Amino acid sequence: MLCLEVDNINFNYKLRKGDTFAFRLENISFSLEKGTFLSILGPNGSGKSTLLRILDKILNPNSGSISIFGKNYNRISRRELSKLISFVPQSPPTNFPYTVFETVLMGRAPYLTGIGFENEKDKHIATASMEKTDILYLANRNVQNLSGGEIQRVYLARALTQQTPILLLDEPNTHLDLTHQIDILTLIKSLTIENEITVISVFHDINLASLFSDIILILDKGRVFEFGKPENVLNQTNIKKVFGAETIIDQHPIKKIPRITLNPN
Ligand code: ADP
Ligand code: MG
Repeated sequence: MLCLEVDNINFNYKLRKGDTFAFRLENISFSLEKGTFLSILGPNGSGKSTLLRILDKILNPNSGSISIFGKNYNRISRRELSKLISFVPQSPPTNFPYTVFETVLMGRAPYLTGIGFENEKDKHIATASMEKTDILYLANRNVQNLSGGEIQRVYLARALTQQTPILLLDEPNTHLDLTHQIDILTLIKSLTIENEITVISVFHDINLASLFSDIILILDKGRVFEFGKPENVLNQTNIKKVFGAETIIDQHPIKKIPRITLNPN
């Protein structure tokens, strides 16, 4: 079942006074089956976060269309979309003095009706998400005083609490220690397999993307450079072209996937 269809999206940030450079996303098209783990790779400034913001309908494309489970974005309200897509941004906001539990519980907002108080079921869902992301011990802490990795896990827990079929993640592992990187990515991967959740995640670590993704989309200067299985898109030529880096690529010793080793001269 197709859960997301992106058809020839074009987008540009408006030039402000004094700007000489305007970034454009051009002719972005791809579609995803339900339960796919898609990783987006690309150099800094290639448009990865911009694409996620478009998929979350924070930004509107100038042309092209997006459909989610067959329904066009233009016909979907913000509230309806927030039951379908959750988004963990690259730098989640921490300028409000909420506790971790309150922040995670906000993931239930799309489902609240009437006077809008969370019930026991909502609290139960929030607690279960906190358990999965290993932040239960932080429940009563103020989110303003957490480490980068703790914040990332809080916002992931909030996204899980939203219980959406699509999860957008912008560099979810940048601040995580090694154990939490593996644990969180294993958790996310299991969601795609057991719950058929579709994950779209930006990564910098090509090896992590190779290990966990079904499909990799490489963005280069606002265009789709490659879209396919890790073994078909991760090769020396592509990485040299897009990232300008010399690499050696062999196979992961256990899993039959590409392993990338940097080879600086
Ligand atoms: P990536 O996530 O791949 O590093 P981004 O999508 O954040 O890249 O940004 C792509 C390009 O768009 C960059 O050159 C960035 O400077 C520019 N950009 C990002 N946000 C804005 C904005 N609000 N207004 C103008 N340009 C922006
Ligand atoms: Mg980014």
